Amino acid sequence: MSRLVIFTDLDGTLLDHHTYTAEPARPAWEAAEAAGVPCVFNTSKTRAEVEQLQEKLGLHEPFIVENGAAVWFPGDTELPLPPDARPTDGLYCKLLSIPRTEILEILAPLRHRFRFRGLSDMGVNELMERTGLERQQAILASQREFSEPLVWMDTEDALKECVEALDALNLRLVRGGRFHHVIGACDKGQAMSWLLAVYQNAFGDAITSMALGDSENDVDMLSASDIPFLVRSPVHAPPEIPDRPEVCITSHCGPEGWAEAVTSVLEQEGIGSL
Ligand SMILES: [Mg+2]
Repeated sequence: MSRLVIFTDLDGTLLDHHTYTAEPARPAWEAAEAAGVPCVFNTSKTRAEVEQLQEKLGLHEPFIVENGAAVWFPGDTELPLPPDARPTDGLYCKLLSIPRTEILEILAPLRHRFRFRGLSDMGVNELMERTGLERQQAILASQREFSEPLVWMDTEDALKECVEALDALNLRLVRGGRFHHVIGACDKGQAMSWLLAVYQNAFGDAITSMALGDSENDVDMLSASDIPFLVRSPVHAPPEIPDRPEVCITSHCGPEGWAEAVTSVLEQEGIGSL
């Protein structure tokens, strides 16, 4: 028998793009959790943001932060941890990328070639203005450990050049909902696959993965999943998912769309009842 694990993006997917609420999706994730289906967050957000959100939503699962840069496990996890998982602040961290300090060092010379503004250039007030986050939320969002978000202020052609320059330095630039994110050689898809293997090991059964996302930075995760779902965005067209013509797109946006997708898959898989 195959076990289901759900991997989900947050901004614009589980969380409403404008209000950041997840509440319309609550019945769906509670049904999943009650049926033993883990809901794993796979996000460009920081550990500090995810910890607070998990507490608010009542979820207690491993999670993937900063576009696949690291996987965090709760301190009391029953999953088998890899030997290089580092105990940090009561959690365990499996690093899949490089620390932000290294990324900032590599980025420094590119400032002379391209016009962009990085998170490290912004104060909390500017971040609040750019994201619409409350102060406390903006402080958590600025606690980046493995990536640097950028506001691109140069041309589209320069952006392509910058992507190539970063590629040569073994860094990647991915487009999120509001920022471009400079990350190490990682992505949400690789991180999902890595964590799926951990679940596989623990469960001993075959795993079916469901993935939900709304943006370009979710494409790797959606491509690598068994059941990919695009959650409709109120602000941009859905990205193309190469070689996955069957990918479903929700009719609703954000958390309403999330609930619609998860409810249909739970029914399809004969799991729980809503
Ligand atoms: Mg998103």
